[in-house]
Amino acid sequence: MSQKFEILPLKQELLVNLSALEFALMTPIQAQSLPALLEGRDVTAQAKTGSGKTAAFGLCILNSLELPSNNLHSLILCPTRELAEQVASEIRMLARTYQNTKVLTLCGGASESLQQRSLASGAHIVVGTPGRVLHHLSRKSLILDSLKVFTLDEADRMLDMGFYEDIIKIVDCLPKKRQTLLFSATYPEHIKLLSSEIQNNALEIKTDITHEADNIEQLFFEVQPSEDKNNFLYKLLCMHRPDRAIVFCRTKKDTNDIAKFLSNRHIYAESLNGDLEQSERTEVLEKFSNRSLSILVATDVAARGLDIEDLAAVINFNMPTDAESYVHRIGRTGRAGKKGMVFSFFNAIEQDKLKEIEHLTLKDCIIRDTSKLTYTKKYDLVPPMQTMFISGGKKDKLRPGDIVGALVGEAKIDANHIGNIAIKNSFSYVAIKSESIEQAIQKLSRARIKKKKFKVGFA
Ligand code: ADP
Ligand code: MG
Repeated sequence: MSQKFEILPLKQELLVNLSALEFALMTPIQAQSLPALLEGRDVTAQAKTGSGKTAAFGLCILNSLELPSNNLHSLILCPTRELAEQVASEIRMLARTYQNTKVLTLCGGASESLQQRSLASGAHIVVGTPGRVLHHLSRKSLILDSLKVFTLDEADRMLDMGFYEDIIKIVDCLPKKRQTLLFSATYPEHIKLLSSEIQNNALEIKTDITHEADNIEQLFFEVQPSEDKNNFLYKLLCMHRPDRAIVFCRTKKDTNDIAKFLSNRHIYAESLNGDLEQSERTEVLEKFSNRSLSILVATDVAARGLDIEDLAAVINFNMPTDAESYVHRIGRTGRAGKKGMVFSFFNAIEQDKLKEIEHLTLKDCIIRDTSKLTYTKKYDLVPPMQTMFISGGKKDKLRPGDIVGALVGEAKIDANHIGNIAIKNSFSYVAIKSESIEQAIQKLSRARIKKKKFKVGFA
């Protein structure tokens, strides 16, 4: 049922760009939602993580954007700053063939006065978290009178995080006549309620939640409250040796304790949870996605929706709250035909959850005995990359090419040893093959990038 974007009434610039981006065919959620979206209808769409929801609403927004108007056209709310950044950069990418489309993020942790100035100079699309958006509304630095399209991304997660009231307050500031889009990975009852409050005759689209789990090995382990789960986790890692894995926990404290426990055993693990400072969260995520870390120990909320996939394993240290979340968690492994592994610990009172999971995945849950967990070799895998920190970023007008240029030219680093480069506002992260990182840091701290000196070190 794959379809080309060309069958849609999309502007020519967008079609040209989609083909340049090699978006050859629509994903199922795009094929199902875009015809109605482009007609201007309100839509509630549910599809699993990684199914291309951002481009679905992004194309709708960009198609109805009339340039060169300077008015604010669209507001997108996201639950976390990382997601807002991710959505903003995807939309900027989709808007490449439009001249001067201004996409602005409004999130906590960033300078408010800078945001005020950017707003004053005009933005077409604002992507933000509810708290900071409300803040700008109350200061009147953000005015939504001209808004045409309002989008909630990861709506389920926003409700889980308690943003309901904030969302309603924001909706009260919107023009009555508008298009309202609600995108969500799961479709619980409270999404239906929210939809009935903020949408008008919305078209409801749900795609199949079951994941093609055939190439994923899923094992369940029953544990007693008295048992040492950390030790079971360690045994699992030694037995199966995943090069990259997420360990999902229920509490922030667990994420910290487990990351420490694994680090003490020489495993490159770090925790990701809501208690971290924004800059720490950014750093951990960057290190994990650029392959400087083996294990990310995270709460569901912290890891939800982030574009981290292609994992060798997903470990549910605690069972997720519902079967749909389970399906989402496992969707991060076994991508692109590769083999994936999912290990889940459960306790006696969680038996029912296994039934729900069987129902949803159409597979029997295979239960294994923890006493059979043995290993012959310790987990000694070392991530291939390490992360270098540079004290300059967007505000210094640094671009990836400048950094690659300095690394290859000044530091004599093999271009093949340079991994992902992430340029943030006032600093940057660069992944470098471990064998070259010492040299890169040493040489670059004495050299200049774009004629300027920066502090350079290990992240
Ligand atoms: P979701 O929000 O549903 O979790 P995303 O919107 O983050 O998923 O999309 C996941 C990835 O798929 C992104 O890297 C995006 O650029 C890519 N993508 C989206 N639509 C297409 C398409 N039609 N063809 C190829 N890649 C796509
Ligand atoms: Mg998304």
